[in-house]
Amino acid sequence: MLHEKYTNKDAIMEEGEGIILSGSEKASPSRVNPKFKYEVLRVPGGESLIHCFQCGTCTSDCPVARFSDKYRPRSIIRMAQLGLKDRVLDSDFLWLCASCFTCTDRCPQGVEVASVIRALKNMAAMEGRIPQAFKILLGNLIKTGYIYEIPESRIKRRETLQLPPLPKTNVESLTKSLQNLDIKRFLEGLPQKSSEVRVWV
Ligand code: SF4
Ligand code: SF4
Repeated sequence: MLHEKYTNKDAIMEEGEGIILSGSEKASPSRVNPKFKYEVLRVPGGESLIHCFQCGTCTSDCPVARFSDKYRPRSIIRMAQLGLKDRVLDSDFLWLCASCFTCTDRCPQGVEVASVIRALKNMAAMEGRIPQAFKILLGNLIKTGYIYEIPESRIKRRETLQLPPLPKTNVESLTKSLQNLDIKRFLEGLPQKSSEVRVWV
């Protein structure tokens, strides 16, 4: 029966979705931040969070969800609505979104799902909650202009094979473009000094 599913002490799973709350998380008020959804609504892109009525269309059409049991945009939206701030902002699955906007196109409620997820990523980044892999990529970009640091051996090998040199990057110009972002703090994983959330993409 439906009510039995939702009173299960050990786990609550929404139909068709693999993640939601364990019983202990639900019972602990310290894990719930009732103001969180209002914080999201104030971030550019997050304004439509409140309109979601949990139909699941976004999840069923999401190409990432098709290949990952963990990634469920409907669940992300629901957790944000419920105030599970840490659960959302610390999650790795938030960063799996490919920003393809399929969910936004299909949502019957006009929820800008992809933009809400982008807003959540921006909020996570502003608090230094960026997965280590992204910090490494950002560090490489600032240092070399490439997402991946090209090893000297690879460059020499290209010469041996008489391949053309890799295109030159303009690190100085890149650094200039990023100067308003407190990049060093992002890389160190520290929260931003300002409470203002900037939009990255
Ligand atoms: S499609 Fe829209 S209304 Fe339906 S669950 Fe996703 S965000 Fe919510
Ligand atoms: S934008 Fe993200 S959540 Fe939406 S369909 Fe694409 S990958 Fe899925």
